[in-house]
Amino acid sequence: MISKDDISRTVKRYKPSKITIGTICSHSALQIFHGARQEGLRTTGICTADRRFVYDAFKLGKPDDYIIVDDYQDLIKERFQGELLRKNVVVIPHGSFVEYVGAENLKREFHVPMYGNRSALEFEGDRRKMRTWLQEAGVKIPREHEDPSKIDRPCIVKFHGARGGSGFFVVDSERRYQEQIENGIKKGTISESDLSEATIQELVVGIRYYPQYFYSLMFQGEVRAGEGRVELLGIDRRVESNVDDLYRIPRSENGPEIEPSYVVTGNIPVVLRESLLPKVLDLGRRVTEASVKLFPPGMVGPFCLETVCTDNLEFVTFEVSARIVAGTNLYPEGSPYSCYLFSKPMSTGRRMALEIKEGIRKKRLADLVS
Ligand code: AMP
Repeated sequence: MISKDDISRTVKRYKPSKITIGTICSHSALQIFHGARQEGLRTTGICTADRRFVYDAFKLGKPDDYIIVDDYQDLIKERFQGELLRKNVVVIPHGSFVEYVGAENLKREFHVPMYGNRSALEFEGDRRKMRTWLQEAGVKIPREHEDPSKIDRPCIVKFHGARGGSGFFVVDSERRYQEQIENGIKKGTISESDLSEATIQELVVGIRYYPQYFYSLMFQGEVRAGEGRVELLGIDRRVESNVDDLYRIPRSENGPEIEPSYVVTGNIPVVLRESLLPKVLDLGRRVTEASVKLFPPGMVGPFCLETVCTDNLEFVTFEVSARIVAGTNLYPEGSPYSCYLFSKPMSTGRRMALEIKEGIRKKRLADLVS
């Protein structure tokens, strides 16, 4: 198990002028490299040989240099970790980073300083822990049923881990639940082992908003939590196949019913009615406060909430992403919210670089990594 003290010692050995931002070339890497470059930090991309051309195709988004791997799990090998440590790399763990390298590997074997709090990734990866976190925050969350016989309204059935909505389905009775499970197993979209981890959650009716926050330990401001401030850096919503375009398909009386699916394919920008901002800022503050309590120093850096705003203008939060989300890729030059916080274009990628620079300046980088 990697301890926070080991990482603190490692980062204290780094040369401040050599600190380099590194991540796997996927997910939000263009934004992360671009933002680090805007702040004058060096960058390293961990990449497979066949993907390198994608990054080389964007001269302001590509990293300064690459570490080429055959498989991202190779990063655990001493040789690659040694290279990252020699380059004084602080790794940014985006969603694909955690998925490709593996949460357990990161926890047990990855000695390279990672930006943020590794415990947060654990809370994100375990639906039960995530629910405890949201309950501790005192925010409204959807009802859940342990037992399918209790299904009495439309419910979404989810499986373990961040699978981008793949394999999820909606049912409104126990009978439909059993049918869908059988179908999924036949088609191979659900495995027997998934079943023990299935969550049956009330399908919240309303409009989805996914606010993107940043918890800063380096800057002070109005929305405070723990010892830092909570910033709203942007809002997006996901575009999911096929559910988001189902309305375009004419319904026939006798034809087969089309089952909605929830596979994330992209993101679109949104802004909220300004009078709803107090609620969204309060959500971010509460979730951060709870994180400080449950896993100090809390949700350091970027995080995102997945919410539905009902027609009572109430936000129901059904998921937390405890790291940079791909929806932030909409705003490489800042968003309709970040522009009121910073006088320069501020993406989430750049915001992390700015925080790291401030950590270096205040000799507190060890507080920002784990
Ligand atoms: P998740 O993996 O939890 O992010 O869910 C994938 C997608 O399923 C979300 O982006 C939503 O479109 C939808 N979804 C998940 N949970 C709910 C819920 N409780 N109510 C309504 N829609 C949901």
